Amino acid sequence: MEKTELKDTYKICTLCGTEFKEFGNNAMPIKEGICCDWCDENKVIPARIKEIELDNDIYKNYPKPSEEELAALKSDEPDQLPSR
Ligand SMILES: [Zn+2]
Repeated sequence: MEKTELKDTYKICTLCGTEFKEFGNNAMPIKEGICCDWCDENKVIPARIKEIELDNDIYKNYPKPSEEELAALKSDEPDQLPSR
């Protein structure tokens, strides 16, 4: 028969070093390993949100087509025949 010793299931949070019994959370992108619920909520999740915001910044800063380029694209549309 297998014995489940709950006492030995303590985990150490990789971020704050606290022992915890919960399932644990992925501490990425801060650190590889697992962290406690508190660190997940207060450190990991904000870090993830920041990463997403940074990603969005990259898209924001992505060079947009200039007015001239947009005009050139529009002039290629079939309904805009050159009037000559
Ligand atoms: Zn922690």
